[in-house]
Amino acid sequence: MFAARLQDSVAGDGWCARLATPDRDPILGETVANDRRDADRKPLSATARISFVNEPRRVEVHPGCEAVVAFDPDLTFECVDSCTWCCGHGVLLYDHDLLGLAQRANLNDATTTAHGEQFVRREQKDRDDHTGDDGAACYFLGEDGLCSLHAEHDWKPARCSVFPLEVHYENGEIRVTVRDEAEEHCEGLDVSERRVIDNLDAFLPEVLWSLENPETKIEL
Ligand code: SF4
Ligand code: SF4
Repeated sequence: MFAARLQDSVAGDGWCARLATPDRDPILGETVANDRRDADRKPLSATARISFVNEPRRVEVHPGCEAVVAFDPDLTFECVDSCTWCCGHGVLLYDHDLLGLAQRANLNDATTTAHGEQFVRREQKDRDDHTGDDGAACYFLGEDGLCSLHAEHDWKPARCSVFPLEVHYENGEIRVTVRDEAEEHCEGLDVSERRVIDNLDAFLPEVLWSLENPETKIEL
């Protein structure tokens, strides 16, 4: 179901261009920061950009939007159709998600409030397949194991693209790891030739760089 995520990217409006690159990298150190200034003078592809830095690696995900990547660069991912594990949970909605969702669904039916934030709600499903252990799953997860939002509207909330990755916000920068739960439950890790690090724009919507707190650990 999430296979389409690698073609998806939430369109931004130049958020990244408004962010300044720090002179000194608080995570990677001054040597890397100097290398980055060289890189800024000579634009590189994402693949070339990461090749000269030891772990953790800095990658330009969208123009002007960089992330510090702290996972195995050889990690590959391809969503497995029969797996719907990550859709068993509610989804945090950013403001622009709420606007998008309001054009496609009834917010009163589909959303709930928790921790002072809006989420796509979970609901009990009258079926055995494609549910969590408690018999519930995302409001939009159908009995066919497909996301009705994606299937009918070719759209989904930004947070749905991030899994199996996790975003942390440290020293003013976005740092990306693989979620612990994904290591245990995601069937799509290391089953294809598609390297995650080469497709980060499909996992990390540009809107993340515009948020005061882009952490993705917040759950319903
Ligand atoms: S909105 Fe769609 S993609 Fe996101 S968790 Fe729900 S069913 Fe899955
Ligand atoms: S857990 Fe992994 S393989 Fe399963 S639906 Fe989610 S992204 Fe796809």
